[in-house]
Amino acid sequence: MHFKSRDLSKLHRHGQFWHIFFTQGGALISQDEKDTWTVHVPIPLDLDCSTLDPKEAVCKTLGGPEGPVHIDIDEVLVTSSWRPNICLADEYISKGGRVFLSGDSAHQNIPTGGYGMNTAVGDSFDIAWKIAAVVAGYGGDALLRSYEEERQPVAARNIDQSGAHWSVHAKVWGLSADGDAQADDSAGQALRARITETVLENDAENKAHGMELGYRYYKSSVINRDSEGGLEPEWKLFDYVPSTWPGVRAPHVFLKDGKTSIFDCFGSGSQYTLVDFSADGQYASVFDEVASRLAMPLKIVLLPEEKHARQIWEREAVLIRPDDHVCWRSPLQGGLGNVDVENVLLVSIGQRVAQGQAQSPYGDALPGDGKHRSFTATIGNVNQTKVEKLASFQQWEWLCALNCSIVGWWSVCIPQSIHKNRNVCGWIRNSPLELSTIIRQ
Ligand SMILES: Cc1cc2nc3c(=O)[nH]c(=O)nc-3n(C[C@H](O)[C@H](O)[C@H](O)COP(=O)(O)OP(=O)(O)OC[C@H]3O[C@@H](n4cnc5c(N)ncnc54)[C@H](O)[C@@H]3O)c2cc1C
Repeated sequence: MHFKSRDLSKLHRHGQFWHIFFTQGGALISQDEKDTWTVHVPIPLDLDCSTLDPKEAVCKTLGGPEGPVHIDIDEVLVTSSWRPNICLADEYISKGGRVFLSGDSAHQNIPTGGYGMNTAVGDSFDIAWKIAAVVAGYGGDALLRSYEEERQPVAARNIDQSGAHWSVHAKVWGLSADGDAQADDSAGQALRARITETVLENDAENKAHGMELGYRYYKSSVINRDSEGGLEPEWKLFDYVPSTWPGVRAPHVFLKDGKTSIFDCFGSGSQYTLVDFSADGQYASVFDEVASRLAMPLKIVLLPEEKHARQIWEREAVLIRPDDHVCWRSPLQGGLGNVDVENVLLVSIGQRVAQGQAQSPYGDALPGDGKHRSFTATIGNVNQTKVEKLASFQQWEWLCALNCSIVGWWSVCIPQSIHKNRNVCGWIRNSPLELSTIIRQ
């Protein structure tokens, strides 16, 4: 429920915050740190949301185990229900190659981590410039096909991690259900310490920079592999690792004036960019000439004096796509003499397919044999066990507890093999979860 309230003496009682997650499963979000708030309330699957009084539900949720606390609510803005689904479309592209799925139509994850809209925007960005290139005439078929190769693994990893983040919340609910976290005695103190420890040990939900900025298009057939071999550099969940390994988003670095980002030098719109750090600009003229011949929009950026940027960027020359991802970099040895420039550019615009596969120890996120992916309906408050085509990874007991749609009321469904329609804590208590990540205020 989204609502307006200026009852700050209660809502800001614990100081400034963005999210507060309650040990019973509810959550409070400060939308503007002033007067606009969202509350998520866990509800049983079979509850008809229209029977709930929104104000009462807010007071009950924020009061926690000690009973409702009165909050002065000026206006209820929106109430709605949502289900934490996870699903991934088997294919992002129609058989005829004319329809492309993006956003929630292609994948859905649990909101923990905030990956849904971010993944959706990334999808749309990826497909948009590729369609523009094909419509303009220089982009080839492989460019469109690469959309799925590039974006589906990103969604798979994001879905996987959203589940890991969710499981930390679940663990906290489970711990809370096993004792009284409010108790002013040694047992209460010990429980609070365990909850704190759980949260701090798995604190990735808002800190996983590797997820947010470190995704790499390692499977793409329009990314030229390193001629020396394609082993992916280390990928870390918490840290963004700057690299120009083909497929990564180019790393930001300030130029030596201390204020110009190298991104500010890139071409605009549909333009690719060749960044040439070599002293004699040996790559620039050849790439410029071949790109013109292929009618490929290319901006040349010569940075022979930028030693620091050159060091971070690892190579003498790097080719950047319109979406700022690297699609080629010069070999470590041999310079331009070892480069088939026409092939590099033909691959980059999808008129030819890249040779060889990058080796990615970090790439595939979802478990199983690759056939676990499925697609489920998310509209309405239906029992998850009745949704057709449930993927095997959705049938895991803990993930089957996910069941909602759109923002607001939180409903939880239990696989029939356990108990139908029990509440979150009841379910969590029985769940043998090993958890890996975290919630954060
Ligand atoms: C509680 C919650 C919290 C979230 N928090 C975050 C977050 O912090 N960060 C983040 O990145 N993501 C978050 N998300 C996910 C994010 O909201 C979605 O991933 C995102 O809205 C997907 O965008 P979309 O355009 O693909 O789909 P939608 O936003 O669902 O848009 C689809 C649109 O199509 C319309 N439509 C459907 N059928 C038809 C039809 N037949 N004809 C015409 N129109 C139709 C719908 O009405 C809707 O407006 C959250 C989601 C939830 C539920």
